[in-house]
Amino acid sequence: MARYRDAVCRLCRREGIKLFLKGQRCLTDKCAIEKRNFPPGQHGKSRRPKLIGYGLQLREKQKVRRLYGILEDQFRIYFEKAARAKGITGENLLSMLERRLDNTVYRLGLATSRAEARQLVRHSHILVNGRKVNIPSFQVAPGQEIAVKEGSRQLASIQRALDLAGNRSLPSWLEFDREQMKGRVTSFPKREDVNFPIQEQMIVELYSK
Ligand code: SF4
Repeated sequence: MARYRDAVCRLCRREGIKLFLKGQRCLTDKCAIEKRNFPPGQHGKSRRPKLIGYGLQLREKQKVRRLYGILEDQFRIYFEKAARAKGITGENLLSMLERRLDNTVYRLGLATSRAEARQLVRHSHILVNGRKVNIPSFQVAPGQEIAVKEGSRQLASIQRALDLAGNRSLPSWLEFDREQMKGRVTSFPKREDVNFPIQEQMIVELYSK
């Protein structure tokens, strides 16, 4: 599956907000948003255009897409599924993004960023209900158990992430046992579990044009 491979701090600078794409670095004063909080490019410093209407909706969609590390085509597929499902489209969309396996691994504190979580999944370090799943977009469901494979529990990146994750709160839809390195999905994520400023209604308006 394709993924974005260019410099990720540019994405935060474009959106004007920390998207926490680089793990530990995002928490230090080396963060590009701390040092250069203006859009990338030659004219970034001199112009930050005033956005209205379509421009605002587009930026909101790009922000969410980049936060979860998803390319445009796949994001649109998520939106179409969210629109077909029962309930509020914007909330359905966020719930599906949250239930991606890479995001779940990140939320459990096993990785310092979603990109790192994605790599753990791709490299087969993660089990769902005892079976290897190496598809980052796999949708977890209530009752499922997410665990680190026994041979991977001492991985330095996981240990470092767990130490750092002490500062992050576990969302209400997940449980985690650090000793066993196992988590459980207890319910579907709710809107209030998405602890990042997102106006999902703007994304719905953008795709509904
Ligand atoms: Fe974004 Fe992290 Fe880079 Fe800061 S360090 S600009 S939060 S990716």
